[in-house]
Amino acid sequence: MTIFRARVLDTPTSPFAGGTLRSDDDCGLLVGDGVITARGPFDAVRAEHLDEPVLDLREGLLLPGLVDTHVHFPQVRVIGGLGLPLLDWLDRYALPEEMRLADVDHARGVARDFVAGLVDAGTTTALVFGAHQAPAVDVMFEAADHWGLRVTTGLVTSDRLLPEPLLTTAERAHAESLALAGRWHGKGRLRYAVTPRFSLSASEAMLEACAATLAEVPGSLFTSHLNENVHEIREVAALFGGASYVDTYDRFGLVTARSVLAHDVHPTDAELRTLAERGAAVAHCPTSNAALGSGLFPLRRHVEAGVRVALGSDVGAGTGFSLFKEGLQAYFVQQLLGPEGMLLTSAHLLWLSTAAGADALGLGDEVGDLSVGKQFDAVWVLPESGDPLAVGLDNASSPDDALSKVFALGTSSDVGGVWVGGEQIAAGRWRSPRLR
Ligand SMILES: [Zn+2]
Repeated sequence: MTIFRARVLDTPTSPFAGGTLRSDDDCGLLVGDGVITARGPFDAVRAEHLDEPVLDLREGLLLPGLVDTHVHFPQVRVIGGLGLPLLDWLDRYALPEEMRLADVDHARGVARDFVAGLVDAGTTTALVFGAHQAPAVDVMFEAADHWGLRVTTGLVTSDRLLPEPLLTTAERAHAESLALAGRWHGKGRLRYAVTPRFSLSASEAMLEACAATLAEVPGSLFTSHLNENVHEIREVAALFGGASYVDTYDRFGLVTARSVLAHDVHPTDAELRTLAERGAAVAHCPTSNAALGSGLFPLRRHVEAGVRVALGSDVGAGTGFSLFKEGLQAYFVQQLLGPEGMLLTSAHLLWLSTAAGADALGLGDEVGDLSVGKQFDAVWVLPESGDPLAVGLDNASSPDDALSKVFALGTSSDVGGVWVGGEQIAAGRWRSPRLR
């Protein structure tokens, strides 16, 4: 067992439901077998456990491990392709790169780059949009397992309107998905996600096959894209006889409490009602939405409809792995919406980056905050002395103010350490996968 001594900030209760930032200036967290078994003032925890080693992290801040609910593994190398709307960006940047993952050695390099991006950003849990090629998805699972990250991912499936090398059939997608799930679902911290790319590129037969896989893999998740771009939405409606985008999934039973749908920038009120009734979650990806000019996310309408919302980086349309940047951009978007926006405090941003994501992924009992009984998944924010963030933290007027500075100024370079299930996997520029 180890006692972690730190200034700890987390959000065990949603600020959207009256919760506030929990801040403990000199907190002791006793961790054994990866689980937090005691929490309190350091002196009190220490007095009860005099023989346990102490790891002193009082410089900087300790936050729960960050949770990214939408991030594309094959797109790490195309981050920064600016200047195009969604469908043109896919054709120019994303899809050519995704075709290259047919080469499994190439896929292995991409997976290495991708996992390094997550770890460096302090992301310990992620719902990862996989690849269209089953061997590349195996490689992604291997990389996540090697590092011990909590990753849910799966085969991306499409049977129309994409370049031919990315297409499959409903039968083949079903068989390959079941085989992948058989190899990886429930192994360590890994789970399977049924992942049609979007209903634009998935026929009714493909969506039926997705429903079959979801039913045949207990505990699997469903993820896809939703209402991202107005042109895309029109195309989807034309393909499905005028149906709403949510209905294209819902009619196949794919909108449930195990569903995470990315974007939803342009929902109708009826769609929001359906999402809320089914208990589905939305992954809000604010830098992606801005980079592709998709629109300003209507957070207030989601919250008022009772739809769960968390954050996603949407790498590679998103501009990086850091959920601090996504949180800041989410704040910007709400400011720009004027009276229709929601004023987000730093506690809201931390909630959206941690506990909301854990809840969206069905992991709310395990991770998302640093309470007793939770896994010790944590990120140590440790800016270099003299850096504007270090100056800001030294001069913060309150814990909420300190946390605002983390979202305003924090980058992956400020991540001083990362733990998953009590195991340290990164410290500054040093990174270490688990030896197994
Ligand atoms: Zn996406």
